[in-house]
Amino acid sequence: MNAAKDILHQVFGYNEFRGNQAEIIDHVIQGKDALVLMPTGGGKSLCFQIPAMARKGMGLVVSPLIALMQDQVEALLQLGVKAAYLNSSLDEKTSYQIEQDVIQGKVDLLYVAPERLLTPRFLQILERTELALFAIDEAHCVSQWGHDFRPEYIQLSILHERYPDVPRIALTATADEPTRREIVEQLKLQQAAQFVSSFDRPNIRYRVLQKQGAKEQLRQFLETEHKGDAGIIYCLSRKKVEEIAEWLCDKGLDALPYHAGLTNATRQKNQQRFIREEGVIIVATVAFGMGIDKPNVRFVAHLDLPKSMEGYYQETGRAGRDGLPANAWMVYGLSDVVTMRHMLDNSEAEEQRKRLERRKLDALVGFCETTVCRRQVLLNYFSEKFGTSCNNCDNCLEPISTWDGKVAAQMALSCVYRTGQRFGVKHLVDVLLGKTTDQIERFHHNKVSTFGIGQAHTSSQWNSIFRQLVAANLLTVDMSGFGSVRLTEKSMAFLRGDQTIALRKDLEVTRSKKIKTTTKREQKIIPNASPLWQALKNRRLELAHEQGVPPYVIFHDSSLIEIHDRKPRSMNEFATISGVGLSKLQRYGEAFIRVIEQHGDE
Ligand code: ADP
Ligand code: ZN
Repeated sequence: MNAAKDILHQVFGYNEFRGNQAEIIDHVIQGKDALVLMPTGGGKSLCFQIPAMARKGMGLVVSPLIALMQDQVEALLQLGVKAAYLNSSLDEKTSYQIEQDVIQGKVDLLYVAPERLLTPRFLQILERTELALFAIDEAHCVSQWGHDFRPEYIQLSILHERYPDVPRIALTATADEPTRREIVEQLKLQQAAQFVSSFDRPNIRYRVLQKQGAKEQLRQFLETEHKGDAGIIYCLSRKKVEEIAEWLCDKGLDALPYHAGLTNATRQKNQQRFIREEGVIIVATVAFGMGIDKPNVRFVAHLDLPKSMEGYYQETGRAGRDGLPANAWMVYGLSDVVTMRHMLDNSEAEEQRKRLERRKLDALVGFCETTVCRRQVLLNYFSEKFGTSCNNCDNCLEPISTWDGKVAAQMALSCVYRTGQRFGVKHLVDVLLGKTTDQIERFHHNKVSTFGIGQAHTSSQWNSIFRQLVAANLLTVDMSGFGSVRLTEKSMAFLRGDQTIALRKDLEVTRSKKIKTTTKREQKIIPNASPLWQALKNRRLELAHEQGVPPYVIFHDSSLIEIHDRKPRSMNEFATISGVGLSKLQRYGEAFIRVIEQHGDE
């Protein structure tokens, strides 16, 4: 274990192992198999990188995406580790050279795509190479039900058959149980020790706001909380992606679109700008995100509902990989539930699949409507127990009260019934409030028994009530019938029975206010207003551009914050910064000390 600790200090420049890293690393160094389930940003890479360096021979890492490989190899080279990758992006000459280096034992960590690994040529090279371990990254790609299925992953069991004595470590950030079972089965990891971490992402603050002028809400959120930050904004349609990106650009923000309808070249270009530059905002459909390792994504915003809790967890999980505070922010309204349910009803899928997806959507809607800690609901969904209150979600920071909505619900449901289940929410609210509109007069709805009985609530409260009744499946909105609201089987039972319903008292959301933090956890603050911080960031960007690498490969924000706060003025002091190992000290120590000398007293 001393060897591992030495590598941690000298190569990576970190003081301590995190979570169960030490245990996992020890296990693999001893030559045993492991399955590692750890959330994004948990520190999975060290779990195979350190054993690969500590053990004799080369560590072989299977990785599904070229971008991921390049990123990790780039980072390792910066640390002075002998790392390389083999994939289709290399020309033949370079590939050949790397193969020769492998055979001559000059490579400590080799990243390969699964299809490359399975070629006879590569398997032959392996025959001539001493192997420290096999790491199977993003192991959920083996799952046929998952979102990232890669058929070649299934054949990776061949590694174990050929090299039963070489330890294997499979890693994933996918939290759901069926996928885990499939990984074990497909990769034949029944004997492997399982290391399961909590899937909580404590630095992510979850918030769901009622939609009221979404664009303006978004603008305010970006303005008050994320000036100059990089982030991702998810929308449902390509059209909306384009529209929002353009609108943000008009407002002077650096926003780029990303969706499957753009040319490959444009997508690549926009993704590269997001990764290589600072403060770029990507507006995207779900097509964006896989293989994005950028650690300083400071927010993920949803202008439309994701499809499921799994989708929500994965998409929001792209924020704050570096452990610094990050926001998962979403606006949500009645029309979102209606649109998503409508899309599902009209999809081509089989009835059984649709039922499953409806259940998944309902769970997500429940999450949006919940009045308890969102982190608790999220983690419970993934079968993880979590205490009562996280103090880092909107419901914890600004508790939502509930009220007994039985009478209001009955009024709403019977209003739907009395007017013939043919009208939309706006009209129904007018009837309940006793307004005289043309439509009410035309249909004589001033004569129905529910006319004017709802005046104890305002129109915005009634809108909130209707939304919650639709969310709870007590009402349904018929999209093909001009948005007419109808009763459901569940509402019949509700009207007949003696059930109560607790409704949330929505906060007035006209102004998006910044929630004051009182987190118990110690969180680093990003010193955006400081001239020294800006100077350090600029220097980092220059160095990154000189080498054609992303800035975070030079230093993560967390290291840069420590440099900013502690202002080291000698190489000895600089060496004590977390994330500064021997290689980075030599490469960058002087450059950053100079920046401190120039700006440190400002
Ligand atoms: P994952 O692959 O699980 O998403 P990474 O391996 O990329 O996570 O690690 C996430 C971040 O945490 C990286 O910035 C990494 O350098 C950092 N990190 C990992 N282990 C440690 C540690 N023991 N001490 C400090 N930082 C760490
Ligand atoms: Zn909470």
